[in-house]
Amino acid sequence: MSRGEKPSIVYWLDDNLYLNITNRCSNNCWFCFRNFKQGVGGFNLKLEREPTAAEVKAALESALALRRWREVVFCGFGEPTARLDVLLEVARWIRERCGGTITIRVNTNGHGYVLNKGREVAQEMRDAGVSKVSVSLNGHDEASYAENCRPMFAGGLSAVLDFVKKAKAAGLDVEVSAVRMPEVDMEKVREVAEALGVQLRVREYIPCFW
Ligand code: SF4
Repeated sequence: MSRGEKPSIVYWLDDNLYLNITNRCSNNCWFCFRNFKQGVGGFNLKLEREPTAAEVKAALESALALRRWREVVFCGFGEPTARLDVLLEVARWIRERCGGTITIRVNTNGHGYVLNKGREVAQEMRDAGVSKVSVSLNGHDEASYAENCRPMFAGGLSAVLDFVKKAKAAGLDVEVSAVRMPEVDMEKVREVAEALGVQLRVREYIPCFW
């Protein structure tokens, strides 16, 4: 949990706690910070192995005691829904331990249904206590998405759009986010967000939070 050489499962920036539960991702975005950095905020996010749910909870137990946090966010050097069962177990534990006051957010690339065939990903997250999802949308059509995010399967953008629709239907608070950079046509991305009926958050090109 502490800053330094050892890989961190739990880390923090400002008022938020972050959970780094995997380094696997179904995208390979050319701009991903894990291509250039060891971590963020002085924390090493390059995991030597994926933590178990019990290890995540143990690391969280100490961090939760440090202060009153605004949000707990599943967001690290990988896609959290690649470990859906760990995510759900930890979210349930946070909700039981902290009650309804804390926001539990999942920052996701929106590939949860592709990574977890046959599962009701958004509804399961909602049932586990997740409040909000922030979905990366770094392209306005399949070609621009493929160029920026280099997904491991065809139809990467349509998977994201499908996830956003299902997350809304499940009652999650949903936003999409895009990184401000020349390769992203922000006006066109905004049109996609408007068509989906969700807020667009434009992120500066800083570590981790796209
Ligand atoms: S979706 Fe996120 S974690 Fe995955 S490659 Fe892109 S920026 Fe990195």
